[in-house]
Amino acid sequence: THDIHIIGGGLAGSEAAWQLAEAGYRVRLSEMRGGGDSTPAHQGDTLAEMVCSNSFRSDDGDSNAVGLLHREMRTLGSLIMREADATKVPAGSALAVDRDLFSGGVTRALTEHPNVTIVRERVDTLPAEGMTIVATGPLTAASLAESIGAATGKDSLAFFDAIAPIVYRDSIDMDVAWMASRWDKVGPIGDGKDYINCPMDKDQYHAFVQGLIDGEKTDFKDWEKDTPYFEGCMPIEVMAERGVETLRFGPMKGVGLDNPRTGRWPYAVVQLRQDNALGTLWNMVGFQTKLKHGAQVELFRTIPGLEKAEFARLGGLHRNSFIRSPELLDEQLRLKSAPHIRFAGQITGCEGYVESAAIGLVAARFAAAELAGRPLPPPPPETALGALLGHITGGADAASYQPMNVNFGLFPPLADDVRKKDRKLGYTQRARAALAEWIKVAEGVAA
Ligand code: FAD
Repeated sequence: THDIHIIGGGLAGSEAAWQLAEAGYRVRLSEMRGGGDSTPAHQGDTLAEMVCSNSFRSDDGDSNAVGLLHREMRTLGSLIMREADATKVPAGSALAVDRDLFSGGVTRALTEHPNVTIVRERVDTLPAEGMTIVATGPLTAASLAESIGAATGKDSLAFFDAIAPIVYRDSIDMDVAWMASRWDKVGPIGDGKDYINCPMDKDQYHAFVQGLIDGEKTDFKDWEKDTPYFEGCMPIEVMAERGVETLRFGPMKGVGLDNPRTGRWPYAVVQLRQDNALGTLWNMVGFQTKLKHGAQVELFRTIPGLEKAEFARLGGLHRNSFIRSPELLDEQLRLKSAPHIRFAGQITGCEGYVESAAIGLVAARFAAAELAGRPLPPPPPETALGALLGHITGGADAASYQPMNVNFGLFPPLADDVRKKDRKLGYTQRARAALAEWIKVAEGVAA
């Protein structure tokens, strides 16, 4: 006896379950981890496990689109944001969390909610009836992926996402490395010294780039050869192949990082970001890779300060699946051919933890309104939620559809006379007003 069935207890499914439960609906949440199954990237069986970085990216809601999305989700009572705020670790102006405390908090909140029943089971076919939200993510189990393919009549789409290594803090040589944030920028909970920085001189950098190019890579299976990378998660060796300076203008740039031992910026740098509240684990920023594990250990130990590094996890690469949402889903995230089924999270073609949870949030709001018999219009396109949703459900070109992070390019343009330096604030202030109007509509629907 439930009002709605949610399949997948990741970032999107957990948020959706919370929103519906809080609205008074009984939720059955099916999660295959903890029931004898897992995915190639998940490590445990908590709900809302973060598979790679521990960062929700910028928390600046005035000048950054993902920061704005954070703010909108908080306004709408997001469980994911509540638990992220409760478990954050220093990361400059970014919102990063202790991943175990975070997913533990989400799991506890849903386990204790009287309207949520968590069932540790794998679902193999799309339910023929009953209101359903499918939030099985980029690593949807094969059987269900086949069922989705059959229902949508489309070849499933795919791309690659890579994960970066994590290093034990006590194995880093702090006589070589030092703590600093770029430009000494002080974030909300840090002290302007949030990152561990490992410096490289010119020769070391060139040798390192060559090492990346020469290092032994995991082989691609034939069917994977034509699959594109997600640009925001490009493996480090692929960046190295694009040109010797590419990394020095990307994750390895040394600008704004005074090395206290030389008083100068290093030629290049490897940065590590705190990964847990204890500060015992640090992840290598931008170092997602498909080098073989042995090659990673060998090469990364040539980085000054990491000569004796011990790795809690090495990098890896995974194939992700998503559907051609702009063609298949209506503006309420319902499958046009089977409207009792909604999709949410990364399987819709949004990209990232925050975006996935945000789409889980709106899918749940739509479903709750439908259960109440009073449909809710989508959030306006001037909001971050509405801009992202609009891209997924129609704004994007279906033929060239690729996973997308939230960004101001998805928002309706501002008037031409808004000056460049005022534009970000222009977007976020306009969004704030638009969200307030939508909340009034939503409250009217719920009343
Ligand atoms: P998930 O969080 O993956 O949740 C889906 C859930 O459904 C899982 O718990 C899974 O066990 C369950 N499930 C799957 N199939 C079934 C089934 N048939 N029955 C029952 N349960 C099922 N995003 C970032 O923001 N930063 C990163 O650094 C980052 N790195 C990534 C690295 C990799 C390798 C991958 C694959 C993704 C990465 N992402 C990253 C994207 C990240 O996966 C998503 O942002 C986010 O986790 C997606 O949320 P979701 O809820 O859609 O899916």
